[in-house]
Amino acid sequence: MADEPVSALDVSIQAQVINLLGDLQAELGLTYVIIAHDLSVIRHVCDRVAVMYLGNLVELASRDDLYARPRHPYTVALLSAVPSPEPVHRAPDGRRQRRERIRLTGDVPSPLNPPPACRFHTRCWKAQEVCKTEQPPLVELAPGHQVACHFPENS
Ligand code: SF4
Repeated sequence: MADEPVSALDVSIQAQVINLLGDLQAELGLTYVIIAHDLSVIRHVCDRVAVMYLGNLVELASRDDLYARPRHPYTVALLSAVPSPEPVHRAPDGRRQRRERIRLTGDVPSPLNPPPACRFHTRCWKAQEVCKTEQPPLVELAPGHQVACHFPENS
């Protein structure tokens, strides 16, 4: 278990630590559970990614599927904030789209007193009445890709 293993390090040391983790994994056949906020680091080192919001699991998928087709609005907002070398990308229907950063409004609620039902509803641009009253279950929307949202994206 590695909790923010490189967050306090400068970039060159980050690379050394990440390479060391990779070498140890290959040599010893290790499995890591890595907790991190840096989405670039997660993309580089993880095979499967679980996204959490206020202590709840909201999305679980393979790394490639999650970064290509995020389905929970919180994941979509997180990934929209990552600088991309490709400001234009292909939408699922084949159209070319400009990547837009989604700016969430409002403060993160206190984890000691989280909002009821979907905990993200106070900041979600897609929230509807049901989101305030019914907690969305974690549902498999594609093979190996689970999402807890009443109105997921890319579905
Ligand atoms: S359940 Fe509703 S509020 Fe929660 S993430 Fe989905 S759309 Fe947004």
